[in-house]
Amino acid sequence: NRRVVLAARPQGLPKPQDFRLDQTDIPKAGEGQVLLRTLYLSLDPYMRNLMDEIPPAYAPSVALGEPMVGGTVSRVVASQHPNFRVGELVLGNAGWQDYAVSTGEDLTALGDLVQPSLALGGLGMPAFTAYVGLLDIGQPKPGETVVVAAATGAVGSVVGQIAKLKGARVVGIVSGVDKCRYAVEELGFDACLDRRDPQLAQQLAAACPAGIDVYFENVGGEVFDAVLPLLNVGARVPVCGVIAHYNDAAPPAGPDRLPGTMTTVLQKRIRVQGFVILDHYAERFDAFRRDMQAWLAAGRIKLREHRVDGLESAPEAMIGLLEGRNFGKVVVRVGE
Ligand code: NDP
Repeated sequence: NRRVVLAARPQGLPKPQDFRLDQTDIPKAGEGQVLLRTLYLSLDPYMRNLMDEIPPAYAPSVALGEPMVGGTVSRVVASQHPNFRVGELVLGNAGWQDYAVSTGEDLTALGDLVQPSLALGGLGMPAFTAYVGLLDIGQPKPGETVVVAAATGAVGSVVGQIAKLKGARVVGIVSGVDKCRYAVEELGFDACLDRRDPQLAQQLAAACPAGIDVYFENVGGEVFDAVLPLLNVGARVPVCGVIAHYNDAAPPAGPDRLPGTMTTVLQKRIRVQGFVILDHYAERFDAFRRDMQAWLAAGRIKLREHRVDGLESAPEAMIGLLEGRNFGKVVVRVGE
């Protein structure tokens, strides 16, 4: 059983040496358990937060020497559980390893899903995050302007496309010309900007002549600085992620921008609301799945997967995700 364990707590951007590929015996399924063979492993930005000693508020940290956690699509290869039979595909949390044992509580049978890795992206957690954050918190109305960064990624690409379906004008922010072109030509965004352009603030102002009504916050940092002065009275800011800060080892150098930010929030009556998608499955997942399946079947939403081969490639792919080298939802193909 090959596993990628956390070898050291990263300082800043993780390095390959912060991970270690090791080998253990294949575990055995006991009474009431199933043995899973990992087929696909999802890589997601939150994993960076679990590498820190101080955990985020929604999950414990990964212990040193333990396998990295992660969502997976697996095949049941042995079962002593009445609800799961050998051969079937399940969505679960086997982590960065070839095999894992589960009690079944965290597993969802995938049936005959044509493309099983979709359960980790377009029909799973990231797209569900886009759906809840945009529709329930952002609440875009026809003609309003929606801005989203990491706009060709797993969450952002779905945010922008759902916003278009709801009649909004959508401006994306990404890194690089290829992603910009894809956002406009393939995903149907009205405009897309490069976050690394020194003129980002001016370009964003030009791309949003009527201001910004919904800013779906994925990144923080300089993108937020460019967005803040453009927010309209009554704007909504679903705070989904701040990936630009996940590698911060120290607070940023001054000046302190909090007073200016809070003054804008007050005067423009802006609703800023953080959310963690784990809270929303019970109430909203069925509606999401129904809508998303219909949109996909009608060709109204496009998905792009950034496929990586082999468990041993996971550390480098995770580092790439934190640097913006991924182009689409990152999925590692672990086994047959
Ligand atoms: P993506 O597929 O979008 O990949 C991450 C992207 O973030 C990169 O491709 C890059 O895009 C962008 N990025 C990386 N570093 C920076 C930086 N310094 N400044 C600006 N952008 C950067 O990931 P996901 O779609 O899975 O996640 C998007 C966001 O949603 C993350 O913040 C994540 O933590 C959050 N999230 C939150 C959830 C919740 O429950 N609240 C659930 C799921 C995700 P580019 O280079 O093109 O700009």
